[in-house]
Amino acid sequence: MAWYSSGGSNAELVENLWRNGLIKEERVKEAFLKVDRAHYAPTSPYSDSPQPIGHAATISAPHMHATAIEHLLPSLLPSPSRPAPRVLDIGSGSGYLTHVLAELVGSEGGTVVGLEHIPALRDLGARNMAKSAEGRDFLETGRVRFRVGDGRKGWRETTMGEDKDEGKWDAIHVGASAREIHKELIDQLRSPGRMFVPVDDDEMGLGQHVWLVQKGEDGEVSKRRLFGVRYVPLGDPPRA
Ligand code: SAH
Repeated sequence: MAWYSSGGSNAELVENLWRNGLIKEERVKEAFLKVDRAHYAPTSPYSDSPQPIGHAATISAPHMHATAIEHLLPSLLPSPSRPAPRVLDIGSGSGYLTHVLAELVGSEGGTVVGLEHIPALRDLGARNMAKSAEGRDFLETGRVRFRVGDGRKGWRETTMGEDKDEGKWDAIHVGASAREIHKELIDQLRSPGRMFVPVDDDEMGLGQHVWLVQKGEDGEVSKRRLFGVRYVPLGDPPRA
């Protein structure tokens, strides 16, 4: 799938993702058009492929980000029952997906937290986002916050815990491959809520698949295996 959708500009890349059916929703396309991937990918930003960003991390391919967003979409968009969606982006790396997510949560208090276990990458995400006027606005207003912590335990944003859901998340995106679907993450999902998580689910340790975890209105959890992928592991930070 990679490379098919590559373009010579951000608009061309997004248009190709749209034409190839990798972005299906108009709202998602608009969000991708608003974020220049060149602010986040140090090389070949308009190629539909992953690129290294340092610290053994990679910015995922645009089609993978598009797929992740489309699977989470019902939990990302503001609605009368959920005017201010809260989204956790674990392993935010470059900050690119964090920015696209922020375009979707709306301006009525919707929030995206990008979580990294490497402080330098937390800083990289914030620095990349500050390259655009809109990104700076997101950082200043708190629509986007970059934090340092171990994503396997999820994250609780203390200033977001005033309601009955105690700071839980409408959507969780996990950008690195987990050894298991960590219970803490499921517990931190709201009802309803959705999580997109790559898992090392092959007994031989050879393969990974993305799982979509959904929590219903009634709190019931269902898990669906989507497709095979190759992500960097959700693990311990490399020793300095
Ligand atoms: N979504 C990012 C992906 C970066 S690669 C992007 O497209 O730019 C995966 C990221 O997960 C790396 O930045 C890595 O530092 C981070 N990561 C790995 N294990 C982690 C953990 N336990 N907690 C938080 N972040 C982690």
